[in-house]
Amino acid sequence: MKQETGKKRILSGMRPTGRLHLGHLLGALENWVKLQDEYECYYMVANWHALTDHLDTKDYQDNIYYIVRDWLAAGIDPAKSTVFVQSELREHSELYLLLSMLVPVPWLERCTTFKEKVRDMHIGKADISYGLLGYPVLQAADIMMYKANAVPVGEDQLPHLELTREIARRFNYFYGEVFPEPQGLLAPTSKLLGLDGQKKMGKSYDNYISLDETPQETAKKVQGMFTDPARIKLSDPGHPHLCNVFTYCTLFGPKDAPAALRGDCAASRIGCTDCKKRLAGYVEKFLAPIQEKQKHWTRDKVRDILNEGAVKAGKMARATMDEVRQAMKIA
Ligand code: ATP
Ligand code: MG
Repeated sequence: MKQETGKKRILSGMRPTGRLHLGHLLGALENWVKLQDEYECYYMVANWHALTDHLDTKDYQDNIYYIVRDWLAAGIDPAKSTVFVQSELREHSELYLLLSMLVPVPWLERCTTFKEKVRDMHIGKADISYGLLGYPVLQAADIMMYKANAVPVGEDQLPHLELTREIARRFNYFYGEVFPEPQGLLAPTSKLLGLDGQKKMGKSYDNYISLDETPQETAKKVQGMFTDPARIKLSDPGHPHLCNVFTYCTLFGPKDAPAALRGDCAASRIGCTDCKKRLAGYVEKFLAPIQEKQKHWTRDKVRDILNEGAVKAGKMARATMDEVRQAMKIA
């Protein structure tokens, strides 16, 4: 299908496994917003993907609402971008099935994200679902459905994108040139560490500040952050370059905050508790404009946007599937 706007295309998604957090904003969402003018953008709530490790679906509908509300509050513009829910486009499941026939199992087993997931979930081989192993194939189907040329992602998703390129290449080799090989577009902060300073900030890790956190919750979470381990007493000089709280100050504070703070910390003029109070204030200010806009996006408004998005995405998805069935000679 010809690109209607002549622009290159993007697809990206997030899973409705919880509330959006600062990592999403810096690692993906800010980039998504910027890309809207340059690309034809498809932004998807990946609810089938959520099932791979969250079988309890009772919060899915709420999470879908909050996620899309936050996308809109952060600047995703439905007049420019197509916003939809994965499961409302059944074509994705058909492409997933067809692609799954092309993917050797070892490609999936050696995927670092798969190995990490199995380790984090503390499950043995007998408990690994077919769906979890197939996660990158479903992701490839989502991306390829819109013939996306680029996928804005965080660093954790790069191995999946490499697999998508291999799957696209393999499809084109067997059935003719149908799919482009998408490139990853990394945001400047492609991995925001969580409050624990260990893992990436993630909604499943309980180490996050969500985009709708109240000032009180933010202050409490920030107070619990680890700081420079070598600084025990207030009089010990700090090492800001090793401190997660300092990194957050550089990301969420005003432009001149890091230089002043670096000096004060290294010369023990400011203690960690005060530094965290400052950070809580920065984060609160940083989130205020988004939180103001969140109020505008009611459930009805979000539902209307998702309905429109499903119609727009459906046109593209049907066209791609016609082409795929023809190329594969499977009606
Ligand atoms: P889960 O823990 O359920 O996997 P998540 O917080 O990792 O949730 P996803 O929906 O898996 O969120 O990720 C959505 C997008 O946000 C992806 O592009 C991912 O790379 C990006 N992202 C998520 N967390 C971070 C982070 N801490 N830093 C940068 N980017 C991130
Ligand atoms: Mg994730």
